[in-house]
Amino acid sequence: MKRETELARGQVPGLDRATIHPFVDATPGPFFYQRMAHPVGAEAERLIGELEGGHALLFSSGSAATTALLLAILAPGATVAVAGGGYYGTVGLIRELSRWGLEIEEFDQTGEPPDADLVWFEPCSNPMLTFPDLDVAIGQAHAAGAIVVVDNTVLSPILLRPLEFGADFVLHSATKILAGHHDALMGVVTCARAEDQARLHAFRTATGIVAAPDPAWLTLRGMKTLALRVERQSAGALELARRLAAHPEVEHVRYPGLGDPIAEKYVDTFGPLLSFDVADAEAAARVEGSLELIENATSLGGVASTLEARERYEGSRVPPGLLRLSVGLEDVDDLWADLTQALDRQTA
Ligand code: PLP
Repeated sequence: MKRETELARGQVPGLDRATIHPFVDATPGPFFYQRMAHPVGAEAERLIGELEGGHALLFSSGSAATTALLLAILAPGATVAVAGGGYYGTVGLIRELSRWGLEIEEFDQTGEPPDADLVWFEPCSNPMLTFPDLDVAIGQAHAAGAIVVVDNTVLSPILLRPLEFGADFVLHSATKILAGHHDALMGVVTCARAEDQARLHAFRTATGIVAAPDPAWLTLRGMKTLALRVERQSAGALELARRLAAHPEVEHVRYPGLGDPIAEKYVDTFGPLLSFDVADAEAAARVEGSLELIENATSLGGVASTLEARERYEGSRVPPGLLRLSVGLEDVDDLWADLTQALDRQTA
């Protein structure tokens, strides 16, 4: 069955908020206590697992999913190699966990990964939009004995299924394009192997880092339109990346759809996220403050376009004039009109 059909068919299950379900014949059933599992979450896990081709588990956010994954599968003293130019929160989280014995190294994911216990890739990294040569880099990481995680938040399993290239785990901030409407905080880990899912499930139950039924339901409902949204948002992003690249106030545009030969090996549609540079932090702030349609807000992947300067969080990890744009479902000419009026104010 095509993924579009699998997503669209049938009904979203009822929103069952019960924290307990009675035992049957004095035996606890699969949903006897919500911290272990609940019906809406189980359905979301079935669907995401099917899309990614593995065994999925929900967590209360993408960062919660990262925390659980690292703590459940690594031991103190382990080294994590993280894609440089990727989500700064993942780097910050691992630095936080250094108090518990994890070491971190950032690396250029377009080259060979360094020796590490776990290698973390982020195709279409947020916000530097680099893309690893997954076949080669995952092979190299495995040959060196590392566990491989791919953060697939930006592309979604509609465009990329990292387990097919050998990843051991796929992580999502489902807060982004999976849920898609800026109304649910949610994380997912999809495991290649059922035994890893069982281990992670035991860790999740013990720690209670679980997703509640309401955001799980919103994620499932949002996913009904995932395929359509990904296609349309990606088309908008490509068009705006092309137009931005020709704008005199824009110094540099990052979008793999503008001819990244490695990305083109793996995908032919490049997702909703791009970044571009204006002259400096002041120019970036002027663009942010001039927007009339695009929301000057954080996050990505939602139906409403969002734009923000990243230096405020990331400091010297990014150029001072870097603006990150997540393209939503608005008409592309309306978005372009908003971007040009904001950029043209640089010279006004
Ligand atoms: N991974 C990526 C690529 C992200 O962009 C984010 C959030 O921005 C996360 C993980 C963390 O997700 P959450 O905000 O749901 O905790």
